[in-house]
Amino acid sequence: MNTAPTSLPVRTRIAPSPTGFLHLGTARTALYSWAYARHHGGQFVLRIEDTDVARSTQDSVDQIIASMKWLGLDVDEGPIFQMQRLARYHAVAEQLIAAGLAYRCYSTPEELDAMREAQRARGEKTHYDGRWRPEPGKVLPPVPPGVKPVLRFKNPQDGEVTWHDLVKGPITIANREIDDLIILRHPPEDATAELPEAARTLGVPTYNFAVVVDDWDMRITHVFRGDEHVNNTPWQINIFHAVMSLPQHAGAGGGAEGRALPQFGHCPIILGDDGLKLSKRRGAVSVTAYEEAGYLPEAMLNYLARLGWSHGDEELFSREQMVQWFDGSHLARSPAQWDPAKLAWVNGHYMKQADDDRLAALLRAQLAARGITDAQGVDLRAASALFKDRCATVVELADWVEMMFVDVKASAEDLAAHVTETVKPALRTLRDRLASVDWDKPTIAQALKDTLAAHGLKMPQLALAVRVLVCGRAQTPSIDAVLGLFPRQKVLLRLQHV
Ligand code: GLU
Repeated sequence: MNTAPTSLPVRTRIAPSPTGFLHLGTARTALYSWAYARHHGGQFVLRIEDTDVARSTQDSVDQIIASMKWLGLDVDEGPIFQMQRLARYHAVAEQLIAAGLAYRCYSTPEELDAMREAQRARGEKTHYDGRWRPEPGKVLPPVPPGVKPVLRFKNPQDGEVTWHDLVKGPITIANREIDDLIILRHPPEDATAELPEAARTLGVPTYNFAVVVDDWDMRITHVFRGDEHVNNTPWQINIFHAVMSLPQHAGAGGGAEGRALPQFGHCPIILGDDGLKLSKRRGAVSVTAYEEAGYLPEAMLNYLARLGWSHGDEELFSREQMVQWFDGSHLARSPAQWDPAKLAWVNGHYMKQADDDRLAALLRAQLAARGITDAQGVDLRAASALFKDRCATVVELADWVEMMFVDVKASAEDLAAHVTETVKPALRTLRDRLASVDWDKPTIAQALKDTLAAHGLKMPQLALAVRVLVCGRAQTPSIDAVLGLFPRQKVLLRLQHV
């Protein structure tokens, strides 16, 4: 498949609706759009599709921008807000009406319900029957008083819409399958209070209209999005052709010269590990949730990228490699399944590679979220270095390091198995030695060895007992290293119980 750009500079965009967090599916298409633009030396635009005024919130805008930043998906333009572009949609709507490509429809919601009811009764697929659609020689009904009209796009009735989807291949829909879409509508009365004057008087664009005006104006060349939008694309293509044909655009200097429609790539949905659509009800679906759960952004990017795209057998790759490889090909046609175990594995890989100072800062934030705000006396950098190899996430890292700040309680089985009468005298000796030696790993190691020699014990016997008492568990990295991380007084206190 040739997805190489034409002579136009590649411009991609992500266009989230600010009605919640940045969803993993949107993050993935944002990543593909970003990588494609970067691969071709093009530009990546962030557009906030906030025309659903009842559901859009500033908090959501902030979350989306923060998640994009966290993932490192830097934008060249934006955020551009659709609600700040109302004048432009209204102008294009007027031009479409003037060109006979859009018309006012005065059907009330009740009338439309009755129309669909009658169609269902006749066993037909429901559709707008075109009663307000102007045709040569057709007499339209009289305009009813007091009804605010919507604007409908006059969709071609013949022929078909075809595009070569970057993911799904060629797709064709007959125009007779598509009815006249509402492109401008009046918001519900109760929502109008916060709306700009123009929205109240002229209406708010629907998604399929605003998206086309924007993709056109913003000179978008490639659109990657979720495949829930496949059914919208035929409308958008028809509206695109209409917009491009407007005298304002088609004429000399109007901007349409040499320009083509964007290419579309629709990525299959992400399935949960139960095989059903990934949704809030079945676990975390927002980028923010994974940040909070201690995942690293480079791991999320790597994992999201692979979830629907491949480069040979590569499972682990950097952001730079992805940009180098991502040319829009090898996008998967079938839905990928969210695999928490694989994500944990990928994250574990990046945890091992992560710089200790960086991990220490992330660890500090995780501990603070648990109420441990004073981490003095513990070298979090050294702790990160010691434990990171066995942690899938920063949360797991915090699970380890937490034992240095909160009381630990070993299980009765561990106490019975390891803190035996044979070992107890040695534990007392060790505590006495540790009270006065220098507090560093080699000296602590020596104190352990001397204690073993004095009591004729083997290292595992003593080390297990110390782990259980000091760490509350029998498995830890090398005990001299672990003890060296603790404040001395805490170790002495925990060994005092024997
Ligand atoms: N606002 C739409 C969404 O969030 C954008 C779809 C598109 O990329 O065209 O699904």
